[in-house]
Amino acid sequence: TECSPPTADANVSQYACLRRTTTENHNKIFTDVLEELAENSEFNESKGPCLAFRRAASVLKSLPSAVHCLGAIQGLPCLGEHTKAVMEEILIFGRSFKVEEVQSDERYQALKLFTSVFGVGPKTAEKWYRRGLRSLKEILAEPNIQLNRMQRAGFLYYRDISKAVSKTEAKALRSIIEETAHWIAPDSILALTGGFRRGKEYGHDVDFLLTMPEMGKEEGLLLRVIDRLRDQGILLYCEHQGSTVDMSKLPSRRFEAMDHFEKCFLILRLEEGQMERDEGLQKDPGESRGWRAVRVDLVAPPVDRYAFALLGWTGSRQFERDLRRFARKERGMCLDNHALYDKTKKLFLPATSEEDIFAHLGLEYVEPWQRNA
Ligand code: ATP
Ligand code: MN
Ligand code: MN
Repeated sequence: TECSPPTADANVSQYACLRRTTTENHNKIFTDVLEELAENSEFNESKGPCLAFRRAASVLKSLPSAVHCLGAIQGLPCLGEHTKAVMEEILIFGRSFKVEEVQSDERYQALKLFTSVFGVGPKTAEKWYRRGLRSLKEILAEPNIQLNRMQRAGFLYYRDISKAVSKTEAKALRSIIEETAHWIAPDSILALTGGFRRGKEYGHDVDFLLTMPEMGKEEGLLLRVIDRLRDQGILLYCEHQGSTVDMSKLPSRRFEAMDHFEKCFLILRLEEGQMERDEGLQKDPGESRGWRAVRVDLVAPPVDRYAFALLGWTGSRQFERDLRRFARKERGMCLDNHALYDKTKKLFLPATSEEDIFAHLGLEYVEPWQRNA
């Protein structure tokens, strides 16, 4: 047939850190479905299939063009039988019956809805489902359910924080937090991380690193920034976690787990006036209340951990997973958000930039905008 295999000779790696993945995804019709199947596997606690679907989606995201036939994916890594069957359905029928079955499943629908609330994980969602609850209204009306502070904020601001954050909004938040941090410590450094650093147009939150050029000077800074945001009347919610960094216990075995840096998970009030000036937009005053709530993550590593924290918080999650897997399997090294440890030489490898870390791993540098794996 005219089905040419444009990708088979591309020598695509099984590791996302050996691929370049921009925000331009030519295979969204497949990856959206595969990611939904991955999420369903996660709800069913099927770790293997979940990872397999996520890896398959990630490989397809890195391809330079759309896949039009099964022949084109021959020789690509991480595409198993289930994935190929799903892709075949989409190629032939333009839809996947497998994913439609999942989407119409009552349990999947409920767990997806419940976990969309800030502060609600799969465990809590499952508990509510087993109690017979199916909608957010039913949860709020159920007198025996004890919501924690984070979940209460999640419900209170549900409408706003389930709405995507734009790049313009992220920039406006950056200015506000930077100004606040500089007012407290003029030489403090604020860096955008997460999806917006990778060049995404929209995100579910905005992620920042905050540090000081001199070691130890970052202590107390984050709490003062939080106080100042509160004084300005823009702090709607704050969950602060103190630092629990213990270099003697590093690097931790449980990758993917939370790191030990001082951090806070915030909900901030963003005035729309600022954006209207920025974009020259005309707003119907009757249409909006003039502000929205936005989720913000603020992490405060000490400056000697900064490069590791920046690499770890830039993502994507799949890129991070594969960096760690590559380090472990191919280099006998252990990487996390705090450090890189060489298990053969039994020593920590120092780094002051992301480039240093890639070099230690014997990897070509991958730009943040190429890490959308
Ligand atoms: P989105 O646009 O949905 O926010 P994102 O890539 O920015 O996409 P986040 O969930 O904000 O996703 O996470 C950004 C990165 O920070 C991820 O790659 C993840 O590895 C890391 N990260 C997120 N939460 C934590 C945490 N609690 N502890 C350690 N690392 C985290
Ligand atoms: Mn983010
Ligand atoms: Mn985040």
